[in-house]
Amino acid sequence: MSARLPAVFLGHGNPMNALGENAWTRAWAVLGAALAPRPRAVLAISAHWYISGTAVTAMAAPRTIHDFGGFPRELFAMRYPAPGDPALAARAAALLAPLRVRADQSWGLDHGTWSVLCHVFPRADIPVVQLSIDAAQPPAVHHELGTRLRPLREEGVLIVGSGDVVHNLEAYAWGGRPAQPYDWATRFERAVRERLIAGDHATLIDYPAMGDDALLSVPTPEHYLPLLYVLGASVPGEFVTFPTEGIDGGSVSMLAVRFG
Ligand code: ZN
Repeated sequence: MSARLPAVFLGHGNPMNALGENAWTRAWAVLGAALAPRPRAVLAISAHWYISGTAVTAMAAPRTIHDFGGFPRELFAMRYPAPGDPALAARAAALLAPLRVRADQSWGLDHGTWSVLCHVFPRADIPVVQLSIDAAQPPAVHHELGTRLRPLREEGVLIVGSGDVVHNLEAYAWGGRPAQPYDWATRFERAVRERLIAGDHATLIDYPAMGDDALLSVPTPEHYLPLLYVLGASVPGEFVTFPTEGIDGGSVSMLAVRFG
Protein backbone atom coordinates (compact mmCIF):
# COMPACT_ATOMS: atom_id res chain seq x y z
CA MET A 1 0.00 0.00 0.00
CA SER A 2 1.60 3.26 -1.00
CA ALA A 3 -1.09 5.95 -0.90
CA ARG A 4 -0.67 8.03 2.20
CA LEU A 5 -3.72 8.58 4.36
CA PRO A 6 -4.26 11.89 6.13
CA ALA A 7 -3.53 12.45 9.80
CA VAL A 8 -6.39 14.23 11.52
CA PHE A 9 -7.10 15.92 14.81
CA LEU A 10 -10.75 16.20 15.77
CA GLY A 11 -12.09 18.53 18.44
CA HIS A 12 -14.66 16.22 20.05
CA GLY A 13 -16.28 18.70 22.43
CA ASN A 14 -19.37 17.66 24.35
CA PRO A 15 -20.03 13.87 24.40
CA MET A 16 -23.61 14.63 23.34
CA ASN A 17 -22.24 15.23 19.85
CA ALA A 18 -22.35 11.44 19.55
CA LEU A 19 -26.15 11.47 19.55
CA GLY A 20 -26.87 14.69 17.73
CA GLU A 21 -26.40 16.06 14.29
CA ASN A 22 -24.89 19.48 13.78
CA ALA A 23 -22.37 21.24 11.57
CA TRP A 24 -19.48 19.50 13.33
CA THR A 25 -20.86 15.98 13.14
CA ARG A 26 -21.79 16.50 9.50
CA ALA A 27 -18.24 17.59 8.72
CA TRP A 28 -16.89 14.47 10.48
CA ALA A 29 -19.21 12.32 8.38
CA VAL A 30 -18.12 14.02 5.17
CA LEU A 31 -14.46 13.51 6.10
CA GLY A 32 -14.96 9.79 6.63
CA ALA A 33 -17.04 9.22 3.53
CA ALA A 34 -14.55 11.01 1.27
CA LEU A 35 -11.41 9.18 2.41
CA ALA A 36 -9.71 7.39 -0.44
CA PRO A 37 -8.37 4.86 -0.09
CA ARG A 38 -10.59 3.73 2.71
CA PRO A 39 -8.47 3.10 5.82
CA ARG A 40 -7.92 -0.49 6.84
CA ALA A 41 -7.65 0.61 10.49
CA VAL A 42 -7.65 3.63 12.80
CA LEU A 43 -5.04 4.47 15.42
CA ALA A 44 -6.72 6.84 17.88
CA ILE A 45 -5.01 9.02 20.46
CA SER A 46 -7.74 10.21 22.81
CA ALA A 47 -7.55 12.89 25.51
CA HIS A 48 -9.47 10.48 27.71
CA TRP A 49 -6.79 7.83 27.98
CA TYR A 50 -4.29 9.98 29.84
CA ILE A 51 -2.48 7.61 32.16
CA SER A 52 0.84 6.61 33.60
CA GLY A 53 2.79 4.98 30.77
CA THR A 54 2.22 4.28 27.11
CA ALA A 55 -0.19 1.50 26.19
CA VAL A 56 -2.06 0.25 23.14
CA THR A 57 -5.38 -1.54 23.18
CA ALA A 58 -4.49 -5.04 22.03
CA MET A 59 -7.82 -6.84 22.33
CA ALA A 60 -9.76 -8.19 19.35
CA ALA A 61 -13.06 -6.67 20.47
CA PRO A 62 -12.66 -3.44 22.47
CA ARG A 63 -15.61 -2.47 24.66
CA THR A 64 -17.32 0.91 24.49
CA ILE A 65 -16.37 2.90 27.59
CA HIS A 66 -18.78 5.49 28.99
CA ASP A 67 -16.19 7.55 30.82
CA PHE A 68 -18.38 10.42 31.97
CA GLY A 69 -21.21 11.19 34.35
CA GLY A 70 -24.38 13.25 34.32
CA PHE A 71 -25.44 12.53 30.77
CA PRO A 72 -28.73 11.02 29.53
CA ARG A 73 -29.30 7.29 29.57
CA GLU A 74 -29.28 7.08 25.79
CA LEU A 75 -25.65 8.18 25.76
CA PHE A 76 -24.77 5.36 28.15
CA ALA A 77 -26.65 2.98 25.87
CA MET A 78 -24.49 3.99 22.93
CA ARG A 79 -22.19 1.28 21.58
CA TYR A 80 -19.44 1.53 18.99
CA PRO A 81 -18.66 -2.09 18.18
CA ALA A 82 -15.65 -1.59 15.90
CA PRO A 83 -13.23 -4.51 16.10
CA GLY A 84 -9.74 -4.13 17.49
CA ASP A 85 -6.57 -4.92 15.57
CA PRO A 86 -3.95 -6.73 17.66
CA ALA A 87 -1.52 -6.75 14.72
CA LEU A 88 -1.72 -2.98 14.43
CA ALA A 89 -1.25 -2.67 18.20
CA ALA A 90 1.97 -4.69 17.85
CA ARG A 91 3.09 -2.66 14.83
CA ALA A 92 2.53 0.64 16.68
CA ALA A 93 4.48 -0.66 19.67
CA ALA A 94 7.33 -1.71 17.37
CA LEU A 95 7.45 1.75 15.79
CA LEU A 96 7.64 3.36 19.23
CA ALA A 97 10.52 1.12 20.40
CA PRO A 98 12.68 1.38 22.43
CA LEU A 99 9.87 3.01 24.38
CA ARG A 100 8.11 0.37 26.44
CA VAL A 101 4.51 0.07 25.22
CA ARG A 102 2.13 -2.05 27.26
CA ALA A 103 -0.28 -4.32 25.35
CA ASP A 104 -3.50 -3.43 27.13
CA GLN A 105 -6.39 -5.83 27.55
CA SER A 106 -8.66 -3.80 29.83
CA TRP A 107 -9.34 -0.39 28.30
CA GLY A 108 -11.32 -0.20 25.06
CA LEU A 109 -12.76 2.72 23.14
CA ASP A 110 -13.45 5.78 25.29
CA HIS A 111 -15.78 8.58 24.31
CA GLY A 112 -12.95 10.69 22.93
CA THR A 113 -12.72 8.05 20.24
CA TRP A 114 -16.26 6.76 19.73
CA SER A 115 -18.14 10.07 20.00
CA VAL A 116 -16.40 11.20 16.81
CA LEU A 117 -15.84 7.88 15.01
CA CYS A 118 -19.56 7.11 15.23
CA HIS A 119 -19.95 9.94 12.73
CA VAL A 120 -16.73 9.44 10.72
CA PHE A 121 -17.30 5.70 10.24
CA PRO A 122 -20.92 5.11 11.30
CA ARG A 123 -20.87 1.42 10.36
CA ALA A 124 -18.13 0.74 12.93
CA ASP A 125 -16.56 -1.65 10.44
CA ILE A 126 -13.01 -0.28 10.51
CA PRO A 127 -10.80 -1.73 13.27
CA VAL A 128 -9.71 0.75 15.94
CA VAL A 129 -6.66 0.70 18.22
CA GLN A 130 -6.17 3.32 20.93
CA LEU A 131 -2.81 4.62 22.08
CA SER A 132 -2.62 6.12 25.56
CA ILE A 133 -1.02 9.44 26.44
CA ASP A 134 1.66 9.12 29.13
CA ALA A 135 0.86 11.89 31.60
CA ALA A 136 4.44 11.92 32.88
CA GLN A 137 5.96 12.99 29.56
CA PRO A 138 6.47 16.57 28.37
CA PRO A 139 4.85 17.83 25.14
CA ALA A 140 8.04 17.32 23.08
CA VAL A 141 7.93 13.59 23.76
CA HIS A 142 4.34 13.30 22.52
CA HIS A 143 5.32 15.11 19.34
CA GLU A 144 8.29 12.78 18.91
CA LEU A 145 6.06 9.72 19.31
CA GLY A 146 3.84 11.16 16.59
CA THR A 147 6.80 11.32 14.19
CA ARG A 148 7.55 7.65 14.87
CA LEU A 149 3.97 6.70 14.01
CA ARG A 150 4.11 8.50 10.66
CA PRO A 151 4.89 5.34 8.58
CA LEU A 152 1.45 3.97 9.51
CA ARG A 153 -0.10 6.51 7.19
CA GLU A 154 1.41 4.62 4.26
CA GLU A 155 0.18 1.32 5.63
CA GLY A 156 -3.52 2.07 5.34
CA VAL A 157 -3.90 3.44 8.86
CA LEU A 158 -5.75 6.64 9.66
CA ILE A 159 -4.16 8.43 12.61
CA VAL A 160 -6.82 10.28 14.60
CA GLY A 161 -6.07 12.57 17.52
CA SER A 162 -9.15 13.44 19.56
CA GLY A 163 -9.13 16.31 22.03
CA ASP A 164 -9.85 20.04 21.93
CA VAL A 165 -7.39 22.82 21.11
CA VAL A 166 -9.24 24.97 23.65
CA HIS A 167 -10.75 23.05 26.57
CA ASN A 168 -11.77 25.02 29.65
CA LEU A 169 -14.70 23.29 31.33
CA GLU A 170 -14.86 25.75 34.21
CA ALA A 171 -15.80 28.45 31.75
CA TYR A 172 -18.01 26.17 29.61
CA ALA A 173 -21.72 26.98 29.26
CA TRP A 174 -23.36 23.64 30.02
CA GLY A 175 -26.92 22.78 29.10
CA GLY A 176 -26.76 24.04 25.55
CA ARG A 177 -26.95 27.66 26.66
CA PRO A 178 -25.75 29.93 23.89
CA ALA A 179 -22.47 31.56 24.76
CA GLN A 180 -20.16 33.92 22.98
CA PRO A 181 -16.62 32.61 22.68
CA TYR A 182 -14.25 34.10 25.22
CA ASP A 183 -11.69 36.41 23.66
CA TRP A 184 -8.80 34.33 25.00
CA ALA A 185 -10.29 31.20 23.42
CA THR A 186 -10.68 32.83 20.04
CA ARG A 187 -7.18 34.30 20.17
CA PHE A 188 -5.51 31.06 21.21
CA GLU A 189 -7.32 29.02 18.58
CA ARG A 190 -6.32 31.56 15.94
CA ALA A 191 -2.70 31.50 17.11
CA VAL A 192 -2.62 27.69 16.95
CA ARG A 193 -4.09 27.74 13.49
CA GLU A 194 -1.51 30.27 12.29
CA ARG A 195 1.35 28.21 13.77
CA LEU A 196 -0.03 25.09 12.09
CA ILE A 197 -0.18 26.83 8.71
CA ALA A 198 3.35 28.15 9.25
CA GLY A 199 4.62 24.68 10.15
CA ASP A 200 5.96 26.09 13.41
CA HIS A 201 6.18 22.90 15.44
CA ALA A 202 8.45 24.41 18.08
CA THR A 203 5.90 27.00 19.22
CA LEU A 204 3.08 24.46 19.21
CA ILE A 205 5.14 22.09 21.35
CA ASP A 206 6.10 24.84 23.77
CA TYR A 207 2.52 26.12 23.94
CA PRO A 208 2.71 27.38 27.56
CA ALA A 209 5.10 30.04 26.26
CA MET A 210 2.19 31.41 24.24
CA GLY A 211 1.13 33.18 27.44
CA ASP A 212 -2.09 33.77 29.36
CA ASP A 213 -4.33 32.75 26.46
CA ALA A 214 -2.66 29.34 26.48
CA LEU A 215 -3.01 29.07 30.23
CA LEU A 216 -6.77 29.63 30.03
CA SER A 217 -7.28 27.55 26.90
CA VAL A 218 -5.17 24.59 28.03
CA PRO A 219 -5.57 24.51 31.81
CA THR A 220 -4.64 20.81 31.70
CA PRO A 221 -2.68 19.24 28.83
CA GLU A 222 -4.65 16.11 27.96
CA HIS A 223 -7.03 17.63 25.40
CA TYR A 224 -4.22 19.51 23.63
CA LEU A 225 -1.64 16.73 23.43
CA PRO A 226 -3.42 14.60 20.79
CA LEU A 227 -2.77 17.50 18.41
CA LEU A 228 0.99 17.04 18.93
CA TYR A 229 0.77 13.39 17.85
CA VAL A 230 -1.00 14.41 14.66
CA LEU A 231 1.45 17.25 14.10
CA GLY A 232 4.35 14.86 14.60
CA ALA A 233 2.81 12.43 12.12
CA SER A 234 2.60 15.13 9.45
CA VAL A 235 5.11 15.18 6.62
CA PRO A 236 7.34 18.30 6.57
CA GLY A 237 5.73 20.93 4.39
CA GLU A 238 2.47 19.02 4.18
CA PHE A 239 -0.68 20.98 3.42
CA VAL A 240 -2.96 21.58 6.41
CA THR A 241 -6.70 22.20 6.31
CA PHE A 242 -9.38 22.71 8.96
CA PRO A 243 -12.44 20.57 8.22
CA THR A 244 -14.46 22.01 11.12
CA GLU A 245 -14.20 25.05 13.35
CA GLY A 246 -16.11 26.99 15.95
CA ILE A 247 -16.08 27.39 19.71
CA ASP A 248 -18.78 25.60 21.68
CA GLY A 249 -20.14 26.92 24.96
CA GLY A 250 -17.68 29.80 24.97
CA SER A 251 -14.60 27.78 25.88
CA VAL A 252 -14.32 24.51 23.92
CA SER A 253 -12.78 24.62 20.46
CA MET A 254 -14.24 22.29 17.86
CA LEU A 255 -11.38 22.93 15.45
CA ALA A 256 -10.42 19.95 13.31
CA VAL A 257 -6.96 19.78 11.74
CA ARG A 258 -6.12 17.66 8.73
CA PHE A 259 -2.74 16.97 7.22
CA GLY A 260 -2.78 15.45 3.77
ZN1 ZN B 1 -13.00 15.35 26.10
